[in-house]
Amino acid sequence: MPEKLRVGIIGATGMVGQRFVSLLAQHPWFDVVTLAASERSAGKCYHEAVGDRWRMQTPMPEQTARLVVKNAANIAEVSEGLDLTFCAVDMPKDETRTLEESYAKAEVPVVSNNSANRLAPDVPMVLPEINPEHFAAIDAQKKRLGTKRGFIVVKPNCSIQSYVPALHPLREFGIEKVFVCTYQAISGAGKTFKDWPEMEDNVMPFIRGEEEKSEIEPLKIWGDVRNGKIVSADSPLITSQCIRVPVTDGHLAAVFVSFKRRPSMTEMRQLWGSFQGRPQKLGLPSAPCPFVTYFEDENRPQARLDRDAGNGMGISIGRLREDKILHYRFVCLSHNTVRGAAGGGILSAELLRAEGYLNGSRR
Ligand code: NAP
Repeated sequence: MPEKLRVGIIGATGMVGQRFVSLLAQHPWFDVVTLAASERSAGKCYHEAVGDRWRMQTPMPEQTARLVVKNAANIAEVSEGLDLTFCAVDMPKDETRTLEESYAKAEVPVVSNNSANRLAPDVPMVLPEINPEHFAAIDAQKKRLGTKRGFIVVKPNCSIQSYVPALHPLREFGIEKVFVCTYQAISGAGKTFKDWPEMEDNVMPFIRGEEEKSEIEPLKIWGDVRNGKIVSADSPLITSQCIRVPVTDGHLAAVFVSFKRRPSMTEMRQLWGSFQGRPQKLGLPSAPCPFVTYFEDENRPQARLDRDAGNGMGISIGRLREDKILHYRFVCLSHNTVRGAAGGGILSAELLRAEGYLNGSRR
């Protein structure tokens, strides 16, 4: 077995950071050696810094609980000896962009969950099953940053991680229009019912910035790398409404879609059932098999029953039927803090390693 890489988690005390900590506890390729967060947490052991904010269902891993949290602003100290860092912080966008670039310039590859760098043309925004070829932009990015091995790769927004995988294998039919309504869990805002009691018995009609991301990000994912830059696709036309619902974890999307050449429902179900990306073909540790599950039962997928499909990394689809305005409608579901956040970041890092982007890494 290859030597494990030494990884850091920046924003380790937050909702996504905690998910990284629990998913990486037994990881065969990555060892968590450094945790960082704001100056509020710095200098405390992880257990103390998180205090009563531990939101995972499994206990805090003992080894990580003892690590002393560093101040993320101390780039040189945090970077020391790292082969790679994950990053999920709640900071203003310009500060996040500077922070991520500082780590890349300190020669630490960054796999980010933040939105700050998502639309930079030389920063791959990767759903590993869909657009791994966008890693080709890393060389141009390194040139811009003046680095040898430091770079930034980002993970797309959690809202799109059920319907983009559902639509992707159907692109051969020329997807023209997509209407999508997302029903998003409260953990997507880094919250539980304890710290957001207003969400009990409630639905909120607005999530800041989410509809823009839901419409723009799929087009970058479906774009091409040209001369070191990712050029977004110019179709399909996507319109969205994003709604917060009283669910702990799991974002559900209701999708309406039309095509240039209308597929049959049998063709659509076959394409979903056989959809494998590079992570499945390479047998990466976090790759779900199957990637996509189609439910015949019209009462599925449900957030509580199906968000943990493939250890939270699988996509569930159901209720495919004809539509009176567009061609078809269906619903789909993914786990927002696993596939949509930490798990998606870990799968990207596994793919980066498998494809040689982290080679020669130990300094
Ligand atoms: P969160 O629970 O509020 O955690 C925020 C983290 O950022 C904490 O570790 C906090 O550390 C740290 N932080 C805040 N200010 C900082 C500073 N000045 N310097 C360094 N660290 C700082 O937020 P979250 O839900 O985990 O989200 C984190 C990021 O992931 C956001 O960009 C979010 O958009 C993105 N994301 C979230 C989800 C999701 O489902 N929740 C999904 C995809 C992407 P302290 O504890 O020390 O304050």
